[in-house]
Amino acid sequence: MELALLGGPPVRKKPLSDWPVFSREEEESLLEVLRSRAWGGYSAEVKEFEEAFARLHGVRHAISCCNGTVALELALRALKLECGEEVIVPPITFISTATAVMICHGVPVFADIDPATLNLSPAAVRASITPRTRAIIAVHFGGHPADVDALRALAVRHDLTLIEDAAHAHGAAWQGTPVGNFGSAATFSFQAFKLATAGEGGAVLTNSSALAEKVWSYCNLGRHKDGGWYGHFTLGSNYRLTGFQAAILSAQLKRLPEQTRVRQENVRYFREQVRSLRGLTLPEDDPRVSNHPHYLLTLRYEPEAFGGVDRDLFLRALQAEGIPAQPTYPYPLYRNPLFRKRSLPPCGCGKWSAPQDYESLSLPESERVCKDGIWLEHLMFLGTRQEVDDIVAAFEKIQQRADKLLQLQESFHALAAHSRV
Ligand SMILES: *Cc1c(COP(=O)(O)O)cnc(C)c1O
Repeated sequence: MELALLGGPPVRKKPLSDWPVFSREEEESLLEVLRSRAWGGYSAEVKEFEEAFARLHGVRHAISCCNGTVALELALRALKLECGEEVIVPPITFISTATAVMICHGVPVFADIDPATLNLSPAAVRASITPRTRAIIAVHFGGHPADVDALRALAVRHDLTLIEDAAHAHGAAWQGTPVGNFGSAATFSFQAFKLATAGEGGAVLTNSSALAEKVWSYCNLGRHKDGGWYGHFTLGSNYRLTGFQAAILSAQLKRLPEQTRVRQENVRYFREQVRSLRGLTLPEDDPRVSNHPHYLLTLRYEPEAFGGVDRDLFLRALQAEGIPAQPTYPYPLYRNPLFRKRSLPPCGCGKWSAPQDYESLSLPESERVCKDGIWLEHLMFLGTRQEVDDIVAAFEKIQQRADKLLQLQESFHALAAHSRV
């Protein structure tokens, strides 16, 4: 059969699973909030959702807020960073992990990743610690918890705060303990593509009552829980989640364990099926991860096994076959224009300076995964085995006809270069 990119029939004609998932449960919860007339952030729905989300992670406090970016900012604000203090972050993450630091007047310091998990490499973190380091933000990338044992040991030894960015890791667990229990705080996102979603939304989890009070206050215009609606004690803003969002999220949380189980089962099956395929490497199954929600599965692509066809053309061919695989980030975070000297520092006090020249920085493992990584997103593993079989069939089909694709490669690059200008 001819490749779909060359006019043949695609392996898969039907789209993979829809996202987000909803049912009567979400519809009815929304109507209940509507009829209750308690639509805002002080509705009982919000409190109920917070309690359920805290319970899911075995953490004492959850404070919901309007998105995952703000959740990071709230958790960092509680640190009271002095201008120019450093926070170690990975370069393979969403921008908020680094901008939250800068918004709080701290300096993000990028440490390289462990190629096996795309999470912060503890050795790289250790090498990045200076007398100005205050904190580490560990992103549980793709739902795979970071090596919190090693990172926690470093944090204790150097008197640093560990914060978990768990935007990919709803319900994930490490050595039997859910995420949210390893740092001073953990932050979550409920943005439209995340594993539980209300379109937008976020939360901070913490076991510290003092930190929970601070975060709640920043999120609620500096109020105290027992200080009345007109009592404002700290500088805060209004970052509340609404009753409607909380209602959807409570319904989403109920379906999360079953969705996670389906993804785990499909990923296990996928592993078996691709084992014999050359040129596509999956991350090893890590026995320390006791619950992996599989937000993103990263494969490493070797062009040599596909007759020299490069990753981006391979992905085009795969998408034409009906498999919407994606490339990893186009470059590590530090190469974003935001980090060019012209636009720094974030405040004018003169104390802010970065120990890294972001523009010329090149952390090898982070660079590499931007070139050879392929993402399979969570919804691709939410269906039946048939869908997994289709993904594997598309890989095989392209591999067998790689020579025909290679003939296209030059024109493909000429076209891509043309469309960039
Ligand atoms: C999505 C995401 C965020 C931010 O969440 P928003 O709700 O979109 O603001 C933060 N960190 C990571 C790693 C994310 O993927």
